[in-house]
Amino acid sequence: MGIEAAIPVDGFLTTQLQKVINWSRRSSLWPMPFATACCGIELMATASSRFDLARFGAEVMRFSPRQSDLLIVAGRVSIKTMPVLQRIYQQMTEPKWVISMGACASTGGVFDTYAVVQGVDQFIPVDVYVPGCPPRPEMLIEGVMAIQRIVDQDGIPPKGPDGKRVPLKIAIQPTHDVRPQPVVGLTVGAS
Ligand code: SF4
Repeated sequence: MGIEAAIPVDGFLTTQLQKVINWSRRSSLWPMPFATACCGIELMATASSRFDLARFGAEVMRFSPRQSDLLIVAGRVSIKTMPVLQRIYQQMTEPKWVISMGACASTGGVFDTYAVVQGVDQFIPVDVYVPGCPPRPEMLIEGVMAIQRIVDQDGIPPKGPDGKRVPLKIAIQPTHDVRPQPVVGLTVGAS
């Protein structure tokens, strides 16, 4: 079901231009995956057929920051890698959003060492924190949906008086049963 469901039979639709822009923006987020560790596996699973990130219009992973508007940091980031991540963020086109996926990206996780960044939000503005080690794909989808809701309501992200981006800082909470569900039709055990 797409926008055609909202168009009356006579083919005319009255709305505000800003609402159409917001709708198209939130329906076509293009993620830039910055996966450095095990969280990246769950990120790949999120885009796979079982979890189907394509339902939310965000399945087109871009490996060029210039074609992306959603940076997903999945995994720990070392001090040495941080300038690369900053450069990628700077090269992304406006408007842009950032998801910090997993404990390592958000806080350093168990890697409380001199070599690991203790939270990427010290260097780039993070809009959504997805907790977990690793987060399940449903949690990441919840994070993408949180950004979609913000885009729907408010459009592009706010900027402060200094012109710098104000991070949204949304922490995702599990809102549904995230335990693994049995795959229908799969028989486990020796035949
Ligand atoms: S949060 Fe856990 S799963 Fe994710 S990168 Fe860190 S150790 Fe790996």
